[in-house]
Amino acid sequence: MAKWKNWSGAVSCQPEKIVYPRSQEEIITVIQEAKQKGKNIRVVGSGHSFTPLVETNSIIMSLDQHSGVTKIDFSQCQAWVHAGTKLYLLNPFLNKEGMAMENLGDIDRQSIAGAISTGTHGTGINFRNISSQAIALTLVTAQGEVIECSEKENVEVFKAAQVSLGALGIISEIKLQLIPKYHLQSEKKVRGFNLSLDELPQSLAENRHYELFWLPGTDRVIEKKLNTVESGQDRPGTWKDSLEYMVENGLLWFFCECHRFFPGSSFGINKAMSKLGIFIEGKKSGSSEQVFASPRKIRFNEMEYAVPFDKGLEAIGELDAWIKKEKIRVSFPAEIRFSQGDDIYLSPSQGRNSIYIAIHQYKGIPYEEYFRGAEKIFRRYQGRPHWGKMHFLEAKDLKELYPNWNSFHNIRRELDPQGIFLNPYLKKLFGVAP
Ligand SMILES: Cc1cc2nc3c(=O)[nH]c(=O)nc-3n(C[C@H](O)[C@H](O)[C@H](O)COP(=O)(O)OP(=O)(O)OC[C@H]3O[C@@H](n4cnc5c(N)ncnc54)[C@H](O)[C@@H]3O)c2cc1C
Repeated sequence: MAKWKNWSGAVSCQPEKIVYPRSQEEIITVIQEAKQKGKNIRVVGSGHSFTPLVETNSIIMSLDQHSGVTKIDFSQCQAWVHAGTKLYLLNPFLNKEGMAMENLGDIDRQSIAGAISTGTHGTGINFRNISSQAIALTLVTAQGEVIECSEKENVEVFKAAQVSLGALGIISEIKLQLIPKYHLQSEKKVRGFNLSLDELPQSLAENRHYELFWLPGTDRVIEKKLNTVESGQDRPGTWKDSLEYMVENGLLWFFCECHRFFPGSSFGINKAMSKLGIFIEGKKSGSSEQVFASPRKIRFNEMEYAVPFDKGLEAIGELDAWIKKEKIRVSFPAEIRFSQGDDIYLSPSQGRNSIYIAIHQYKGIPYEEYFRGAEKIFRRYQGRPHWGKMHFLEAKDLKELYPNWNSFHNIRRELDPQGIFLNPYLKKLFGVAP
């Protein structure tokens, strides 16, 4: 019996075994053996999802050994990548080849397949999520069959597989559309919450990437803008970076621990954090992948909803009022980000530009009252939960939110009629009998 747990430590299980295939042939062999023995398989990336997507007492498949870039088309700026490749390995490699991903989230620990399978996103109203940067996929199904799918070939399977929670099969290869490598400058500033929201249209228009870290219960945000620059230092690592690291990890950890022991101190803590935000104000630049990613050393739990863009500000206002009225104790910043709509069946941004509102609670501090209350608000605005982050929805709620819900499930049933890629959590999400 092996042991497995996710990044936050909130999900753990004892799978029968964890397997590490090194090639597509080995992936097929594992699937065929599992099928013969009536076992289930859950595939894991880096285990950075907060939800029990990977949990199983049967077989966990990790593609850590199925990693690397296999082919590059320099003329089209495209690369073929093994699905287990971690972003922190992929991005510096692409940089050396003169290419980069057009947008990324705020960490780089995920595997490329894990990131796309939950619709991982960054920020920027003119950019779609990471799943949209995948332009073709190779999928190994429950029959051990290999399906190539893209915008031109097996299009419906492709639209389902771009965000598929490991439920359609094992993605073994991903073709990425990249852009020539670029430098970014990041600028952080403490601002008034209402002022930042009032100026949002202008801020989104003027900045390539724009986001807000909001300290709930206070009227302050830390605004973060990312814009391209001609060149930047290739290795950030100045005293400013060390100070930023200390504030965002060490100091935040200290405040969170104070909150854990003295819950009544949370509002005071947030006020102090909002004042200390000035220590991380300033600019830094570097190659895009260095600037996108931040080290996140503190463990927390997270819920994130994608709310239609035109309703997002109202939802944030309601959340703010509710936190203040109910005196919800939070000592961790919320994150407000933006994304362009897409056409992927289960993407939270499907069919609409979105404001992503992420709320966090430090590990060890109860989160349920906060998350459940916030979820009620997000749902009033037709919010869709991030698949990798906590939520309390089930199939009956989810199918109302996704116009292509049935198309996804028809494909899932066709590719995996026996449900070997399901676990109890996915059965609940998808409305499949246990
Ligand atoms: C500190 C932290 C920061 C984060 N920042 C962001 C952020 O900025 N933006 C954002 O959107 N999200 C963010 N997330 C969430 C994270 O990006 C997603 O949960 C992502 O799916 C995790 O990737 P992973 O490689 O760890 O995949 P896992 O969590 O291991 O798996 C995720 C899903 O992908 C499936 N999967 C993995 N590999 C394959 C494969 N080869 N074939 C088919 N399915 C597969 C799994 O079965 C599972 O359903 C963050 C999470 C943490 C812990």
